Amino acid sequence: MLAELKRLVCEGNMLLPHNNLVTWTSGNVSGRDAESGLVVIKPSGVPYDELTPEKMVVLDPQGSILEGALQPSVDAPTHLYVYRHRADVMGMVHTHSTFATAFAAAGRSIPVYLTAIADEFGQAIPLGAYAQIGEEEIGQEIIRSIGTSPAILMKNHGVFTIGDSVMAAVKCAVMTEDVARTVFYALQLGQPKEIPPDEVARGHRRYVDKYGQR
Ligand SMILES: [Zn+2]
Repeated sequence: MLAELKRLVCEGNMLLPHNNLVTWTSGNVSGRDAESGLVVIKPSGVPYDELTPEKMVVLDPQGSILEGALQPSVDAPTHLYVYRHRADVMGMVHTHSTFATAFAAAGRSIPVYLTAIADEFGQAIPLGAYAQIGEEEIGQEIIRSIGTSPAILMKNHGVFTIGDSVMAAVKCAVMTEDVARTVFYALQLGQPKEIPPDEVARGHRRYVDKYGQR
């Protein structure tokens, strides 16, 4: 069932430790199948180097396990809530990556201090309110606060990223940590200045339209 999506979600999960975004078994990646609407997610508490596509868990949008011998990530209710409320989201990532989570712990969003933030995010990376782990509170707060951003810092917790594919969400998690690290260092040197909003919009448009191979 959903062999290609399981392979992709497994690969996306493996990219988290490869990019130093997670420690031990924390963090998770999921993906949604466009045709069936089913969601594939990492199993709970399994070391990353033991993950295989067959160990991924297939859930229906309400969270029933349709396939998989293992329990799904404890963050599955958050992923499912976001998928149910955002038809455009096909991939989702959660990490406690160090620098981005330091901003979350401090209760600070990440303003557009860098062209890389304008390019990738097109806006400041927002901060969501503290929400309890377990059921749907985190998902509700993500939907309430993420707006048009592909990433959100959840207060006292960590990072959630979304994308139109599994890899887009994983890339966004990598870029979130990258810009958080640079902004952290910049803040040690003094007070950075924000790029003006019209310049942010121009940079983001150029990046979306022109960057990479056509
Ligand atoms: Zn977490």
